[in-house]
Amino acid sequence: MHEENELSERRAAQLEENRVRVLDDMARAARAAGREPGDVRLVAVSKRHPASDIAALCRAGQVDFGENYVQEAAAKQDELASLPVRWHFIGGLQSNKAKFVAGKYALVHSIDSLKLARVLHNKAAALGVVQQGLLQVSLCGEEQKSGTTADGLEALMEQVLELDHLRIVGLMTMPFVCGDAEEVRPVFARLRTLRDALEQRFGVDLPELSMGMTGDFVQAVQEGATLVRIGTRIFGPRD
Ligand SMILES: *Cc1c(COP(=O)(O)O)cnc(C)c1O
Repeated sequence: MHEENELSERRAAQLEENRVRVLDDMARAARAAGREPGDVRLVAVSKRHPASDIAALCRAGQVDFGENYVQEAAAKQDELASLPVRWHFIGGLQSNKAKFVAGKYALVHSIDSLKLARVLHNKAAALGVVQQGLLQVSLCGEEQKSGTTADGLEALMEQVLELDHLRIVGLMTMPFVCGDAEEVRPVFARLRTLRDALEQRFGVDLPELSMGMTGDFVQAVQEGATLVRIGTRIFGPRD
């Protein structure tokens, strides 16, 4: 028992240290780009890591957590129901599972089709809530299956604007990184440009840009990310 406590204390200290380092790097990247560190939020991506890790980070002040898998996340949400966690759904989402997501997450990052948007909307309407979400855009061509294309984005936005129980507050992208993180910098800049164009076209506010992961969050912050989604740098490798 004693040994177990010591282990979990050591794990908690490590997670906290990793988090502080990431926050430092985020702040430095923001300042380098003339932005306020407070304008970028860290979403700790806890998929495939235990609820105890989330609890430890939550005690250290981390609020936002990202999950990818509906069932895994639901179990953690139940276990941690008493903690002030703000849950983000960031994974690929099939529309037949969307009813388990609507109303249970502060933000759904991965809305990439009208069909999915409609299911989220309908479930949110049934619950009497408004679900906040981001449109996921695929900007890297063929390798990437998830996300609407840049060409399809305007049409999708026009249609989701009619769904009054779904509020789109920005865009998300997950570039396919193969080499240097600098290679994806133009992708992040492109997402920002697309956001600006949508705001103009529809006269709406889209303040959130969800972009940047362990390997490329510095570039993403410099290009305007408001939400970075970081797993490995905080929790270590996943099985
Ligand atoms: C897993 C995942 C992340 C975190 O990736 P790391 O490289 O571990 O930081 C971010 N965004 C999405 C959509 C993910 O699926």
